[in-house]
Amino acid sequence: MTKKNLFGLTLAELEKEISPLPKFRAKQIAANIYKHGIKNFEAMNDLPKNLRAELSERYEIRIAEVLKRLDSSDGLTKKFLLGLSDGKAVEIVLMNHDYGNSVCISSQVGCQMGCRFCASTLKGLERNLTAAEMLGEIFFAEEFLRGRNQKLDSVVIMGTGEPLMNYDELIKMLRLLHEDYCLGMSYRKITVSTCGIVPAIKKLRDEKIPVTLSISLHAPNDNLRSALMPINFAFDLKNLLAAAEDYAQASGRRVTYEYILLGGVNDTAEHARSLAKILGGQLANVNLIPFNPVAERNFVPPTKASVKKFFHFLNTHGITATVRKEMGADVNAACGQLRAKL
Ligand code: SAH
Repeated sequence: MTKKNLFGLTLAELEKEISPLPKFRAKQIAANIYKHGIKNFEAMNDLPKNLRAELSERYEIRIAEVLKRLDSSDGLTKKFLLGLSDGKAVEIVLMNHDYGNSVCISSQVGCQMGCRFCASTLKGLERNLTAAEMLGEIFFAEEFLRGRNQKLDSVVIMGTGEPLMNYDELIKMLRLLHEDYCLGMSYRKITVSTCGIVPAIKKLRDEKIPVTLSISLHAPNDNLRSALMPINFAFDLKNLLAAAEDYAQASGRRVTYEYILLGGVNDTAEHARSLAKILGGQLANVNLIPFNPVAERNFVPPTKASVKKFFHFLNTHGITATVRKEMGADVNAACGQLRAKL
């Protein structure tokens, strides 16, 4: 008989699962799983011995297991391939920034969004990840760091997949991650990145979970954006910008616009001018990402000079912009390079 996995259940779900046992037992189990990282019921010292045995027979506590690890020569970036219970695999990237450790997790196996510059979508969507699997990615990173006397400071959902196409499991995971009995992570330390699923952005606003929203923009007009990102045919720039600004106002959190600089495609002075124009007056930052090469894609990185000019133009025209520090490109761990194999 396969054992049911308790990892990823909320306290309320645990209470229900073990009823008619008293609720305080569920609290103890939750603390053992989430606070103490215990994977084996026998080690739950605060439970009676017979209960531990009973639980071991019926349940297990399982998170994704590491299949492969690649360390970037920068010494700061590590990529892990994690195996899921059905034999599929996803990648996460652990980054050591000067402001702390952050993990970039995947929300789907593969991706159906079809962005022309991205490796994650080359084979289409295989399946959504469950809340438990996403939380497992984060726990893997947290445990890895804890083993090195470090801690996990922030989570970005910017790996493979479109998180807002896996909405319910995403929200369940975010709420669980935030619970005191789990990692108690502040929503401010969490960033959700989307290619622009407008109805889901509106829904997210109403959840009252003030995570940072990051919008993959990449072009300042509809023609170019639709050519780069098919999602723009469904939700155009006007609607996307309105939904993002609405999110910023409701959450009080500045929206980050990600803008990949593709050499000769969207990185000219004219593009910078249009971008500053459409974002003018919005509660927003821009994060410029020089294109990271993907073998199957025909784009080229921007020149250093065009990155500098673009950056300078935005910052002198009322838009706060930063250039994303490239991390882990030597192990294909940089933005847009993730796929389910190493
Ligand atoms: N689907 C979500 C989450 C993925 S985030 C989203 O689109 O936001 C991954 C980020 O890396 C996105 O901003 C994406 O547009 C960017 N990206 C994709 N391919 C890239 C590449 N080759 N070089 C640099 N950035 C890339």
